[in-house]
Parts: sequence; structure tokens; C-alpha cells
Amino acid sequence: MKIGVLALQGAFIEHIQMFGKIGVEAVEIRLPGQLERVGGLVIPGGESTTMMKLMHDYGLITPIKKMAAMQVPIWGTCAGMICIARMAINPDSSAMQTLALMDITVRRNAFGRQVDSFEAELPVTGLQGGPFHGVFIRAPYIEKAGGGVQVLAALADGEIVAARQGNLLATSFHPELTGDPRIHSYFAGIAKG
Ligand code: GLN
Repeated sequence: MKIGVLALQGAFIEHIQMFGKIGVEAVEIRLPGQLERVGGLVIPGGESTTMMKLMHDYGLITPIKKMAAMQVPIWGTCAGMICIARMAINPDSSAMQTLALMDITVRRNAFGRQVDSFEAELPVTGLQGGPFHGVFIRAPYIEKAGGGVQVLAALADGEIVAARQGNLLATSFHPELTGDPRIHSYFAGIAKG
């Protein structure tokens, strides 16, 4: 089983290295045909509007939606979480075009300028071995989660920052930028079924 990491923009190399660390083969995805060879897909952090535009230009929107419909696991981190959300709200309150895969409403750059980036120790449901060190960079959070969505982690103030809906996983933070592979293992576990 191979994991694909969308490699159009953003922090894709770090994800591939992290999977390598835990012995899971991960490959870069740029073209629709490459999706057929993977048993899971990661949409990394970066800039979500740019990533959506590139997915559109590379003809990836429909194939990724089909993958999700076929229950292939998909994990979005930060900008990737915005891309998979059913609804994403821009800082000026307008709506952003997304892949609309997961029943969550996310707010972009939700923590404001004063706290552009921060780190927090997060207890994450389903992870053994203590809290996870969350690295947040101009991060979104989940403002609303549908009935079928399981909240996996929230900040002390209640903002939801990790969630799962069936084979879809979303994290506001960047597990690929820490030395801790537990969320990569968790996702690989979903992909291995
Ligand atoms: N602020 C970015 C966006 O809205 C996400 C930042 C990130 O992925 N670290 O797309």
C-alpha cells in the first residue's frame, strides 16, 4: 500500500519524509493518473486558494472527488483541511471554493494576526502516548462539524483542530513539521483498513 501526497505546492516533502520514517511508502502526486496507484491521499499545508487553482488546472478535482466517493482515505493538513471542507470561510467572510468532501465548516486564518503561528500540546482521541505537539501556522479551525464527524482534538478555548469522518481526516496543525509520526501512523492505519 502506497500513500500519495499532493505535490503541487506547500509542505509535501515533509509528509513524504515522515511516512518514510515509519516505513510507509509515499509518492508525490501531480497528475490524475498517479492517483490510481495509491491507497490514501494527503493534501498538505500551504496556500489553499493556490492549491485549489492548481488542482483545477491539473485536472485533479473530479478524480479526487471520485476517490473520496470510493472511500479512499484522504487527510488534509492546514490548507489541505480547508480544501477538503464542505465549506470554507475567508477572513472577509466570503466563501471559498473547495473540494467539499468532509462535512465541516472551516474558518481560514482563524486565529488572527496577533497569533499567526503558535504551538500547543493537544490530547488527540485515538493516539496513545500523551498529548501531540501541534504546530499551527496561519491555521484554520473547524467552526462547525456535521453529525457524522468525530472531533479528535480541540484547543483549551474549544476550537476544533482535528476531526475524522469515516475515511476523511482533517488537522489544522502540521504533524509533518514535528518529529512525532503518530498521526501519520494513524492515517496509514486507516489506509491499510
Ligand atoms: N493560511 C493558509 C490558507 O488559508 C493555510 C496555512 C497553512 O497551510 N499553514 O490556505
